[in-house]
Amino acid sequence: MNLLFTHVTAILPQRLVEDAWVLCEKGKIVSITTKKPKATAETQIVDGRGGYLSPGFIDIHVHGGNGADFMDGTSEAVRVACRAHARHGTTTIFPTTTTGSPEQIHAMLDSVKAVQSERHVENGARIAGVHLYGPFFAEDKVGCHSVEGRREPTAAEYRAYFGTGLVRIATCAAELPGAVEFYREAKKRRCLITCGHSNASWPEMAAAFKAGMRHVEHFWCAMSNVSSVRSRLGVPMRGSMLEFVLGTAEMSTEVIADGCHLAPELLDFAFRLKGPRKLCLVTDANRALDLPPGSYRFGAAEDGSWFESDGRVGWAPGRTSLASSIVGMDHMVRQMKRDTSATLPEVVRMASLSPAELTGIAKHTGSLEAGKNADVVLLNQKLGVRRVFIGGVEMAL
Ligand SMILES: [Zn+2]
Ligand SMILES: [Zn+2]
Repeated sequence: MNLLFTHVTAILPQRLVEDAWVLCEKGKIVSITTKKPKATAETQIVDGRGGYLSPGFIDIHVHGGNGADFMDGTSEAVRVACRAHARHGTTTIFPTTTTGSPEQIHAMLDSVKAVQSERHVENGARIAGVHLYGPFFAEDKVGCHSVEGRREPTAAEYRAYFGTGLVRIATCAAELPGAVEFYREAKKRRCLITCGHSNASWPEMAAAFKAGMRHVEHFWCAMSNVSSVRSRLGVPMRGSMLEFVLGTAEMSTEVIADGCHLAPELLDFAFRLKGPRKLCLVTDANRALDLPPGSYRFGAAEDGSWFESDGRVGWAPGRTSLASSIVGMDHMVRQMKRDTSATLPEVVRMASLSPAELTGIAKHTGSLEAGKNADVVLLNQKLGVRRVFIGGVEMAL
């Protein structure tokens, strides 16, 4: 099916194109013009009704949605979560592991592989690979995840995960014994290498950087600061992950812009300090996305840790700390636009092209550009999702 979008403002990485015509043929973007292009008789005209045409969003850190967690380990759970996120404009997704047993992580990898190999638009967002996030977290920064399911990295365990060929993003807390060997192995596999759920000091981050680590998960959440490093290592006070990321140009990071985790000044600070190429928007959404308030499990259905959703965000038991987000990427885009000095092209870049570049898939997706996949989202003037197309095929929302 060939498509011609009209009456839209096209969101390019550097600028907006008003009254654009965007032609897609055989699942690819062919041209973005301000004059009507030549199209075949069977090309379907898609009226954008004065809204925006955005590249589909890319989520590099996401646990589930609509009742399913990727750690449930069934292909139905993978489909349910990928469909839920596609309804929020995400067209490429990296299902993310959490803490759990090796058997649970292998079940997750198997179920993702099964769904990835049966590519169909009704399965929702394309799966570009797995984010191996848990289990290699620091004990004192495990956050809302089950602490029994965390451990130190051992080569036999992570080589089995890498051996599936599915892992494209690899996380380990930098201070754990064996972290540097983990990073070296992940580098050989050309993963985006990240440090998260960590209380690492600057010297530990510097050693990790040397081994290939380039990214830190959910800035300000479950990561070290000067005072948490002092509690672990004493005086003199040392630099933390925070200073290392802000002081190192090659380091990228991500924010949970749901309006509940970080106040506007922090979102804008991260944007101004790192810029739109080195800052990603992630949902970090869990299974409570699109479900009513209530108690849910984070991670596998059988033994994940309990958290509470109040309908806006997840809470750890007792409501003293947050337990990740319950909203989709469209919400993050609207919030970031409202709360920061970033322009709309910059905000959308942080939800599409920047994560695509960091994970090595920007040749195929991540922006409205001739030759790339027709993974596009029609938004209304308030940036609400109206229609979603993956590879030029519309998904029923
Ligand atoms: Zn986390
Ligand atoms: Zn997470």
